Amino acid sequence: MNRSGIKRGTQPLARYKPLEGGQPPARRTRIKQVSAKRQRENRERARLVERLLKKYPLCERCRRAWSRDVHEPRKRSHGADILDPAECVCLCRACHDHVHDNPAESVADGWLIESHDKTTRPRAAAERAAAGAAWREQTQEAS
Ligand SMILES: [Zn+2]
Repeated sequence: MNRSGIKRGTQPLARYKPLEGGQPPARRTRIKQVSAKRQRENRERARLVERLLKKYPLCERCRRAWSRDVHEPRKRSHGADILDPAECVCLCRACHDHVHDNPAESVADGWLIESHDKTTRPRAAAERAAAGAAWREQTQEAS
């Protein structure tokens, strides 16, 4: 439906007055793509990832390959603190792909946590706790 009253295919309306330059823009610099706060968070995250991969060199799911990804069973968008080691699991690339390609199976196995589930701990974190590792303290001492 054409609500404008201007027929399709006609010439655009002629401008009575040419555009004026006007004021220069209020900002002289571009808006940053990443805020300073997020930059700090990302730097801290990178250090955490490096530390975790060193601490858990074997994939925590298959235990047959080197870990290379730090997976978050509870997604960041669902409120996981990306700087909390207990929200992180070290996986090999194949397992990480498998977890995200098979969400239903992964939720059942504890490698993924659904958005509405605010109480379940990520499986690896629960296993580490059960193993009696004073995990959090150790990882925080190392920093
Ligand atoms: Zn694996």
